[in-house]
Amino acid sequence: AKALGSGAVRLFNPEMQQSISRRLHLEAALRTAIDEQLMELYLQPQVDIAGTVTGGELLLRWQDDEFGSVPPNEFIPVAESSGLIVPLGNWVIEEACRLLQQWSKDADLSQLQLAINISPRQFRQASFVDYIEACMARYQVPRGRLELEITENMLIDNVDMTIKRMSKLGDAGVRFSLDDFGTGYASLAYLKRLPIYQLKIDQSFVRDVLTDINDAVIVETIVGLGESLDLDVIAEGVETADQAEALRGLGCTKFQGYYFGRPQPVTYWVERLRT
Ligand code: C2E
Ligand code: CA
Ligand code: CA
Ligand code: CA
Repeated sequence: AKALGSGAVRLFNPEMQQSISRRLHLEAALRTAIDEQLMELYLQPQVDIAGTVTGGELLLRWQDDEFGSVPPNEFIPVAESSGLIVPLGNWVIEEACRLLQQWSKDADLSQLQLAINISPRQFRQASFVDYIEACMARYQVPRGRLELEITENMLIDNVDMTIKRMSKLGDAGVRFSLDDFGTGYASLAYLKRLPIYQLKIDQSFVRDVLTDINDAVIVETIVGLGESLDLDVIAEGVETADQAEALRGLGCTKFQGYYFGRPQPVTYWVERLRT
């Protein structure tokens, strides 16, 4: 038999074995963290052109005893592939509804929107719509306050099912925002057919908006698209005053990013928004 050359790819090299093992361990730790309710939600504010906070996005945080702080970009894919995203996502939905109920009783907070991220696997669950409707009813969530961030690619999966579910939730008072807009494959035709109220300009176009003319043109195009389709447009990942200024110049009227406020425990922002 031919000996494996130094450049040959073995089926299981040590690095692969290590990453598979880390993934399995992460999955087990994540399961425990969900069961024991050790996951946390941080809130990042979203602001309008005047700098007034209009709401915020909830972002999962996980501080594990063994692994330390694991970023969502690492544990969300594990949750997706293992199916743990369903109980985890349901918990996020319930927490959002619970917060919106609390906020609805406070004049300083009652007008705020609260956005949560929805994974494709969650959205495809047969019980997805019923679960959200039941949560909204249980916590008496006012119409127009709960916002679901979905990605373009989710829309093209199964268009008829998607339209049906989104319309049903739209009727129940849920708003949809298209996350990471500009990086996916949704056709413009869908934007017209679906009950979407906001496009979120992906942070990859915001990062170099001052130096890369292509990114500036993309931002301007998305803003124009929003105007023609009567959709809100928000820029995410805004880190500096200069970026915010440039985005304003390109017609952006809503912003999210470290410059306006970092993700912090919900109570941190709630204390600052109470006047
Ligand atoms: P995303 O939905 O695109 O969220 C925005 C990410 O950008 C967040 O990262 C946020 O902390 C970060 N960010 C905010 N402002 C800035 C900024 O000015 N500069 C930079 N460089 N980054 C900024 P995070 O919290 O690490 O989350 C990463 C991704 O994990 C999210 O991307 C989302 O796709 C996913 N994720 C987070 N929480 C959830 C959740 O509850 N459910 C689901 N399904 N996915 C989640
Ligand atoms: Ca998001
Ligand atoms: Ca995003
Ligand atoms: Ca993203």
